[in-house]
Amino acid sequence: FHGPTLAFKDFALQLLGRLLDYVLEKRGERVVIVGATSGDTGSAAIEGCKHCENVDIFILHPHNRVSEVQRRQMTTIFGENIHNIAIEGNFDDCQEMVKNSFADQSFLKGTRLVAVNSINWARIMAQIVYYFHAALQLGGPARSVAFSVPTGNFGDIFAGYLARNMGLPINQLIVATNRNDILHRFMSGNQYVKEALHATLSPSMDIMVSSNFERLLFDLHGRNGAAIVGLMDSFKQGGGFSVEQERWTEARKLFDSLAVDDAQTCETIAEVYEQCGEVLDPHTAIGVKAARECRRSLDIPMVILGTAHPVKFPDAVEKAGVGKALELPAHLSDLFERNERCTVLPNELKAVQAFVSQHGNRGKPL
Ligand SMILES: *Cc1c(COP(=O)(O)O)cnc(C)c1O
Repeated sequence: FHGPTLAFKDFALQLLGRLLDYVLEKRGERVVIVGATSGDTGSAAIEGCKHCENVDIFILHPHNRVSEVQRRQMTTIFGENIHNIAIEGNFDDCQEMVKNSFADQSFLKGTRLVAVNSINWARIMAQIVYYFHAALQLGGPARSVAFSVPTGNFGDIFAGYLARNMGLPINQLIVATNRNDILHRFMSGNQYVKEALHATLSPSMDIMVSSNFERLLFDLHGRNGAAIVGLMDSFKQGGGFSVEQERWTEARKLFDSLAVDDAQTCETIAEVYEQCGEVLDPHTAIGVKAARECRRSLDIPMVILGTAHPVKFPDAVEKAGVGKALELPAHLSDLFERNERCTVLPNELKAVQAFVSQHGNRGKPL
């Protein structure tokens, strides 16, 4: 999480922006990115694309509903191809507008739309790398390694699963969730059922459904697309589902899971600070708690993925009673003094699409 926006998402999005621009340059094409964010993704995507000659990026966030650090990390980056839109609505409204824009792209007048959310394959691909890097530091590939991963959309941990499929000896992957625990309910009880969204101290993992989980299900069903369509249909109709016992058992050979609530998150931040003087962000703390609870073997090194810098989540750190004052790293030290640029729009698809088509060509009309 030591990249420009202090969350691990930089790792993949820094690469994605460059890859995209490289290919577009070769093809003589341009694209428009429209994305919705409740926090970390938006700033990492903007940082990743700000130098792209052939990309215009529009990031929607819910007006007055993201933290000041997170908002400023987006709105203080200036460029004629960067557009922040604050929607007078909530995150679901923003996401809905992005989905609808993908469904009907006529407002783009032929320019292609690209998604940078966590199912983007290039992002997953980039994340595979650090599993290998970590394992090699710890004696791999001769020695097995285990990982505990703070999980929301199942993207980061899915990269670990792919690293294992590529031959890295990973003997255990721990799905660490907050109170939004649909994945934990599947891993512990073979129930994949949607529940209400809870706001937690680890907001980057506040999800109802994990968008990459379908990819694991696909493998568990022998890569049978029709079977997955059936499962997902019953899920969308509100039914939820279980998988056959032997498929679930197969998943459990590798995956364990734990859901960690806010109180346990704060306890873990305090505990780790006391034990090692390290201040964890709340997402990483969830990974640590799950690692400690679920570790299968003391002979096998356990790696916990640290997903954000604690300075991004001061509420949790304060609640944990960690006395140490956190400072923004040098490259962000003047964040609160910088000018901001952002357009507030009503919660209307037409207004957003009109704005995109008016500014989608480096600030000029498409
Ligand atoms: C996005 C994010 C996560 C969750 O990653 P997924 O790939 O969605 O599982 C965890 N921690 C932080 C800080 C994040 O920004």
